[in-house]
Amino acid sequence: MGERHTCTVEVAGSIPVSSTIMKCELCELKIKTTVYLEWEHFIILDCKDCLVPMAVWKEHTMNIPEPDETVMYSMLYETACMFYESWDGKEFIIQKTQRKIPDHLHWHAHKKSEKKA
Ligand SMILES: [Zn+2]
Ligand SMILES: [Zn+2]
Repeated sequence: MGERHTCTVEVAGSIPVSSTIMKCELCELKIKTTVYLEWEHFIILDCKDCLVPMAVWKEHTMNIPEPDETVMYSMLYETACMFYESWDGKEFIIQKTQRKIPDHLHWHAHKKSEKKA
């Protein structure tokens, strides 16, 4: 009678098998503030931290097609015009610098007249 081993496949490491889909708070957007506009690929709403209009791309990426980028920019621009009541756009600045989350595209429309102390 031959010896029989129950072959136990070793579980590599302790990393649980999880999906590689990136998730961040911008993906989930659980906290809905004032939503100004929702488009197919992006949403413009108040940032809950900065309380200024913010455009968030709906996918966890930094690479968006250029035409969409243009659309999103102009939508955020228009929203900011209303928000700051600045029809010439001189009161605010569209900040494309990523803040909290570096790999999920989101733009802020910040007030320009920030006094540096
Ligand atoms: Zn913010
Ligand atoms: Zn994300």
